[in-house]
Amino acid sequence: MADADDLLSAEADDHFHDECGVFGIFGRQDAAAIVTLGLHALQHRGQEAAGIVSYDGSQFHVERHVGLIGDTFTKQRVIDSLQGNRAIGHTRYATTGGAGLRNIQPFFAELADGGFAVAHNGNLTNAMTVQRALQKQGAIFSSTSDTETLLHLVATSKERDLNSRFIDAVRQVEGAFSLVAMTAKKMIGCRDPLGIRPLVLGDLDGAWILASETCALDIIGARFVRDLKPGEMVVVTAKGIESLFPFEPQKTRFCIFEYVYFARPDSSVEGRNVYEVRKRIGAELAQESPVDADIIVPVPDSGTPAAIGFSQAAGIPFELGIIRNHYVGRTFIQPGDSIRHMGVKLKHNANRRMIEGKRVVLVDDSIVRGTTSQKIVQMVRDAGAKEVHMRIASPPTSASCFYGVDTPEKSKLLASRMSIQEMAEFIRVDSLGFLSIDGLYRAVGEAGRDNEQPQFCDACFTGQYPTRLLDFEGHDNVRTLSLLATSGA
Ligand code: SF4
Repeated sequence: MADADDLLSAEADDHFHDECGVFGIFGRQDAAAIVTLGLHALQHRGQEAAGIVSYDGSQFHVERHVGLIGDTFTKQRVIDSLQGNRAIGHTRYATTGGAGLRNIQPFFAELADGGFAVAHNGNLTNAMTVQRALQKQGAIFSSTSDTETLLHLVATSKERDLNSRFIDAVRQVEGAFSLVAMTAKKMIGCRDPLGIRPLVLGDLDGAWILASETCALDIIGARFVRDLKPGEMVVVTAKGIESLFPFEPQKTRFCIFEYVYFARPDSSVEGRNVYEVRKRIGAELAQESPVDADIIVPVPDSGTPAAIGFSQAAGIPFELGIIRNHYVGRTFIQPGDSIRHMGVKLKHNANRRMIEGKRVVLVDDSIVRGTTSQKIVQMVRDAGAKEVHMRIASPPTSASCFYGVDTPEKSKLLASRMSIQEMAEFIRVDSLGFLSIDGLYRAVGEAGRDNEQPQFCDACFTGQYPTRLLDFEGHDNVRTLSLLATSGA
């Protein structure tokens, strides 16, 4: 992203972004309204577009729109158009080349034995390879999303029944997938064998629910039943729920970044409460990287739980020294050059009275390009801080993610081209400390990282990817690749 035009976008957005949330419900008359609420709770997993497919007993209804759930899924669309007692939905964070309507999920197609809808959180790392093979056999693709590949694999499978065709399809793809699919008779949930992305099972008065996170169950008062196991497929019909394990068992590799940033702090994923993990991350950070200071200040909102943990462990007061404006949308009007150079602070403002004359420790979840950190540090200095230290609640992010996360080019990741000292100079702090990879593992409840067989996916910190990257071999530039194969996540 060019410096000249990044004030707004970079200040608003210098994070890795999980690209999707999925939600489905089976057996409840107001299904689409429930899905709308579920997707609203999952809005943090994707803000640019959303879709819902419902089935009313005789036909499917599809609504897919660009924008926030609350803005686009109006009463008229949800109540009047999306009828039926089963529905699935998806919210996405569109990447380069992927913002078009044709890439919004769920994907829906009329297959030989009826309608089939699918919503996907994750990214398939061999979709282009499979797609090319299908195209040689005459397949036509109508989107640039990897998820459409799955639809084709289900459609063209030689297996006899839908369950077997679905299994045939998911066995041919690689990478990260938490899927929610629906036909006239069933809802299917499935996690990849490594369990990279989350997917939970819930129950609302006898109606089964599949959702990316537990916060989507809470919003509708549903009961959390359990996480789907890595490699598990559940099939929900009018008769009940069936659990299948179609993959060879593997050592699981859940995305550890879900705990650092992606998941909502009030969610529990893979048996751990996200807020508690983030507080423990802060406590580990305080132990590993202590600093003499007067106040601990979170970079809101994602740095807040770690800052609380840091403050409690270090015995240094926690203060809201930076206030976030929650009403800055990604589509906020881009100012012209004359306004841009005024240093407009759209998203964050320093709370001067808290900061003036103090030695401040800023706690943030990660540093991606470093542009936001640089501006925030300058803002805190301008507000009169005597010293500004920064502590980061994760190891340096030095590699791209290929599993359904919007990542800048590797060369734009500050940690891929600078030492910690150089980064400290770049963002102009008095000291900079990152959590170690072992510290992160301790915070999630492990003794440390098992370097032979890591317990999580931590590739964006270590560069050690848990799967083949068939479509991406020889490349390290996700942006360029996303033009070829936009993540369906
Ligand atoms: S590389 Fe792995 S740990 Fe990093 S964001 Fe992607 S899935 Fe998560």
